[in-house]
Amino acid sequence: MSNRTFTMIKPDATSKGHTGAILDQIIKAGFSVKALKWTKLTPGQAGEFYAIHKERPFYGELVDYMSSGPIIAAILEKENAVADFRKLIGATNPANAEEGTIRKRFATSIAENAVHGSDSDENALIEGDFFFSKLERF
Ligand code: GDP
Repeated sequence: MSNRTFTMIKPDATSKGHTGAILDQIIKAGFSVKALKWTKLTPGQAGEFYAIHKERPFYGELVDYMSSGPIIAAILEKENAVADFRKLIGATNPANAEEGTIRKRFATSIAENAVHGSDSDENALIEGDFFFSKLERF
């Protein structure tokens, strides 16, 4: 069990002005920010980040969406970070997400679901390394 996870606030949420409220909910849930970046992915970078989903029918849509506007990328720390963060964000489809979760509050559809959360310790490390150098994390 590692104490770090990786998140993105996705383009639908940043464009609707939910960035501050989502960061607030994350911090109030006990996560501390170890790295933070406001950036925009090119289609190539979004495709590389989501390469694991290359064979899924929605891959093209996912790449278009994730490169459609600015995002926040962050590394978060908390005991049991990966599992606790997945609980905080809720189910992939906001229609199935529990009341009070970030996706229930801010997401509009299974595609535009407001936030990303790593699904394993291994992927949390890989995803954090994708965005941040050693000098950018504390
Ligand atoms: P997550 O781990 O909860 O983010 O879910 P997945 O790993 O299954 O999917 C990755 C991301 O792909 C999701 O967060 C959505 O943004 C997107 N996605 C998942 N299912 C669909 C779908 O059916 N259609 C589209 N367009 N996007 C999807």
